Amino acid sequence: MRVLLVEDDEPIAESLRRGLSRYGFEVQWVRTGTEGLEAQPADFALVLVDLGLPDMDGLDVCRELRARGDVPIIVISARSDEVDRVVGLEIGADDYVTKPFGVREVVARMRAVLRRVQPARSEPAQEYGRLRIDRRGRRVHLDGAEVELTPKEFDLLVFLAEEPGAVFTREQIMEAVWDENWFGPTKTLDVHVGVLRRKLGDAASLETVRGVGFRLVLP
Ligand code: CA
Repeated sequence: MRVLLVEDDEPIAESLRRGLSRYGFEVQWVRTGTEGLEAQPADFALVLVDLGLPDMDGLDVCRELRARGDVPIIVISARSDEVDRVVGLEIGADDYVTKPFGVREVVARMRAVLRRVQPARSEPAQEYGRLRIDRRGRRVHLDGAEVELTPKEFDLLVFLAEEPGAVFTREQIMEAVWDENWFGPTKTLDVHVGVLRRKLGDAASLETVRGVGFRLVLP
């Protein structure tokens, strides 16, 4: 999933780029509002906009992006000013994070925003080899036959399928699929992985990466 990051502060941009890539997001980073507006918002699943940019006010970048389309926008800012937050949301930003923030917090906001906007967008079912995942209809087909999945099994599969081949840690999976603030044993995850393996057969393999987590591998 591609994300546009408009941020002039290099350390912050670098840490976001690295951090978000671990969660399966591919970040295109630009340093100025002008460059941000030169990008095609339609190429991105979401845009992160810093308010304090060298060439223009980040709020103007948001306003302009919003005028051009409905790409989800999250404002990132060092200003903890309530006015900025309100203005940001009024001009069409979908959410707001205040510096300093952790990557996990940003990812949680991004996922929440993407979940909110997804039903309004027409996202066709995606093919993954013999699997077909329909996120809007929450259905999975294997060789054309529907696979009965519980809601958590479905969420787990969809999460891993965001980036086939990428390893997701147990913590990332638990946070995304079970609870954002989840923390504790992950036995339930192993149980769900076991069931999914059985239901998907050899159409996809959920590989255990010892000491780290899991990845979805398509033949
Ligand atoms: Ca800045």
